[in-house]
Amino acid sequence: MKAAVLYEIHEPLRVVDLEIEDPKAGEVKVNVGAAGICLSDHHFMEGTGTTVRPVVLGHEGSGIVSEVGPGVTAVKPGDRCILSFVSHCGNCTMCQSGSPQLCLTNRATGVRQFDGTTRLKDGEGQAVHQLSKISVFAEQSIVPAQACHPVPADVPLEVAALIGCCVTTGVGAVINNPMMKAGATVAVFGVGGVGVNVIQGARLMNASRIIAVDIKREKLDFCKRFGATDFVDASKVDPVVAVRELTGGGVDMAFEVFGSGKTIAQCVDVLRPNGTAVMVGLAPEADRASLEVTGIVRNQKHLMGCYYGSASPHETFNKVLDFYQRGLIDISGQITRRYSLDQINEAFEDLVAGKAGRGVIAYS
Ligand SMILES: [Zn+2]
Ligand SMILES: [Zn+2]
Repeated sequence: MKAAVLYEIHEPLRVVDLEIEDPKAGEVKVNVGAAGICLSDHHFMEGTGTTVRPVVLGHEGSGIVSEVGPGVTAVKPGDRCILSFVSHCGNCTMCQSGSPQLCLTNRATGVRQFDGTTRLKDGEGQAVHQLSKISVFAEQSIVPAQACHPVPADVPLEVAALIGCCVTTGVGAVINNPMMKAGATVAVFGVGGVGVNVIQGARLMNASRIIAVDIKREKLDFCKRFGATDFVDASKVDPVVAVRELTGGGVDMAFEVFGSGKTIAQCVDVLRPNGTAVMVGLAPEADRASLEVTGIVRNQKHLMGCYYGSASPHETFNKVLDFYQRGLIDISGQITRRYSLDQINEAFEDLVAGKAGRGVIAYS
């Protein structure tokens, strides 16, 4: 089966034929349905995120179950699934305390399956790893059964793919945050794939203002249809000054989705007293933020990280599916570009160029 493999950083992904094993106990083989092009994968290509190589990237995807390994009862061949980029072991302290998205066993085993071994081999017989255990930049994949979340037949596979990362991450960051109140004022720094969904989450919560901040005009224009009410072009004005002016002193909630220390500091600076800044975007691993710490104390500001929507991915998948089916959020409208697997490097070039909307790899 064909897959896009990262052999070396700063090099294009290589689309090659890989050998794939049968699923072992607790595992599932899927035919990948669609895969979203997300900036988190690009960090691994650039070396600003670290991973074992060679590895098949792709953490935002959907698939159709083709085979199940021993002991799998939750899904069966033919099931159409969202694939979670975190599989939970159910036994670690994070799983047992109700935060399966932070599963420690999943992190410890990383780009290998839960038993610590791999399922893919290249033409030279070299083991190839799987990003997030799902590696959806491939025609087929072996995934833990826990990654699979079945969806109804009327949910398109590309919609299911986006729910796997950007929709759940963005909408979940808002609706699952205990500091988020109906009618709040919200700023969103970085309105790409995830940012658009933070905007939709804020709209679901009846936010009174949803201020989009970005350096790309095209993205600011695009996010209007998802509910943004105000637009700040940070390439032209100081976004902190602009957001404070628009809200008469600062917002209740600022979401950092761009992924940098600089924008994290800006999100803290645009808060009104008692406001909350939420870090959603993944910055380069070496990045640091310089914060005005006295202001955080005197104004009782909050700063928190948010991973995969801050809750069990499966719980948020169910909510997002419900919002989608009732027409409360738009997922299909986020997809602006479709590619074949052979065009994957072009897909990343378009992402890095700052084109608005999501690109997806469509598998036939
Ligand atoms: Zn992602
Ligand atoms: Zn766990």
